[in-house]
Amino acid sequence: MSPTRRLLSLIRPFIWWIVAGVFLGFATIGSSVGLMAVSAYLISKAAIATDVSQLSMAIAGVRLFALSRAGFRYGERYVTHLATFRILTRLRVWFYRAIEPLAPARLQTVRSGDLLARIGADIETLENFYIRVIVPPLVAVLVTGLACAILGYFDVILAVALLVFLLLTGVALPLVSRWLSQQPASEAILARAELNATLVDQIQGMADMLAYGQETMFHERTMRLNDQLNQLQERLAVIRGMGNGLAALFTSLAALTVLALAIPLITGGQIDGVYLALLPLTAIASFEAVQPLSQAFQMLESSQAAARRLFELIDAPPAVVDPPQPAARPASFGLVVKDLHFRYSADAVAALDGVSFEVPPGRRLGIVGSSGAGKSTLANLLLRYWDYDAGSIQVGGVEIRDLAADEARELVGVVAQHTHLFNTSVRDNLFLANPEASEEEMIVASQQAQLHDFVLSLPEGYETMVGENGLKLSGGERQRLAIARTILKGAPVLILDEATTHLDSLTEAKVWEGLAEFMAGRTVLVISHQQAGMAYVDEVIWLEEGKIVDTSVPAELP
Ligand code: ADP
Repeated sequence: MSPTRRLLSLIRPFIWWIVAGVFLGFATIGSSVGLMAVSAYLISKAAIATDVSQLSMAIAGVRLFALSRAGFRYGERYVTHLATFRILTRLRVWFYRAIEPLAPARLQTVRSGDLLARIGADIETLENFYIRVIVPPLVAVLVTGLACAILGYFDVILAVALLVFLLLTGVALPLVSRWLSQQPASEAILARAELNATLVDQIQGMADMLAYGQETMFHERTMRLNDQLNQLQERLAVIRGMGNGLAALFTSLAALTVLALAIPLITGGQIDGVYLALLPLTAIASFEAVQPLSQAFQMLESSQAAARRLFELIDAPPAVVDPPQPAARPASFGLVVKDLHFRYSADAVAALDGVSFEVPPGRRLGIVGSSGAGKSTLANLLLRYWDYDAGSIQVGGVEIRDLAADEARELVGVVAQHTHLFNTSVRDNLFLANPEASEEEMIVASQQAQLHDFVLSLPEGYETMVGENGLKLSGGERQRLAIARTILKGAPVLILDEATTHLDSLTEAKVWEGLAEFMAGRTVLVISHQQAGMAYVDEVIWLEEGKIVDTSVPAELP
């Protein structure tokens, strides 16, 4: 399906809003046309009328159209704006829902600035599609019909002349300007996305950029992209300016032509002279409806480019698809992994190459291996972020591939190496894991993670804001918060992925002590590259290049 058709299918629920927008737009411009026509007639008639009563109809008409124009204009603005906001809300929710199943596997190749541009600017560009692309042409058709009917009533030739100029302004001009702006418009969207992505990248990496003294290079790069975008926008502005100038010229030419054609008809007696002023003024008023068409064509171009970018992203097949009939949640939570194979992409080396192990409920398995050995990949597969290529992972006898991804994720609590903390309070960051938890449960979890006393020492306790990505906390504090959060989630399978690397040995020992109660009865995987925490596990596997190379009990560790 073409992007335009897909966009149209998205707004089906708003069809009546669009119909109302078209009706009110037509009524507004129709009132303008009526006002012009009746006013011209009134002035001419007033010059020759012998009695005021001959003018009463026209005076009432002027009053009616002047008031109705204002009323309809208000209604049209109100309805179209309201519709725009509702459509925008729907588009944002639609896009978010569409990309959520793609995270994180399919989104890792998209830069965060680019994603931001798609969520922000592209969706806002689409908002124009409905109000500035769909509504104006429909209004223009209706107004053209009305104005041509009025002129045609006097003489068909007048209607034909007006129609020619309306088509020139409303169709030919936009088509030419569309043709001219096609390339710069799509280039401008790409340039804007590139600029956004670069800016986000630079802001996120500000500290490193300054530390390496690279700010001049980055600054120059930003300025270059900025100049590029400006040049494209200038080209678009020139095209727009020319279009507007020509539209004004055609409006005046239409009036002059109608006038020139009407004069012989009046001298020939086919039309009463009192209507002479009415004819060109009606023609001029009708141009209000075709003037937005140039912009509509341009918007069509940019909204198609934006839609293409959005569809391209959401059309990526998700890495993990829920089974049609998901299995029920397992009743016990022992973990059995058999001959597991996985690679991140077809041309990548195997991240896991025939890994097998078992962890009965209540037992703890340590997984040790150097960086890149495939340890975190195991956690990624257990969390159903990626699907394994071959082999099996069973929790309580149920293959996790047979579970709905959400269900599988509920079974597993992970303290990852890099946990994202949201820029909100300590409390909100903790409750994220389990919004239904009670205050007491939150405090117990914090105590077990050795976080509670620290939080109490903060000026605002649990209400303290942690800063963007938790930057106001130290690495160790962030880790303890992450541990507390995972405890609060209370999942039956626990993965500690380098969870205590930022802690000093005393705090680390205390955290393990605190965790002991929580870990009792749970299935625990402790991932580490330096054997940290291996004193607290029952068994260890050593991974290298995706294979188990050794298994030894903790007591034998150096
Ligand atoms: P470890 O946790 O043991 O350090 P990982 O499981 O993160 O190792 O990585 C195993 C292999 O998979 C490495 O070769 C790594 O480059 C690759 N890898 C890890 N994460 C990704 C990813 N998101 N996309 C592509 N390749 C990845």
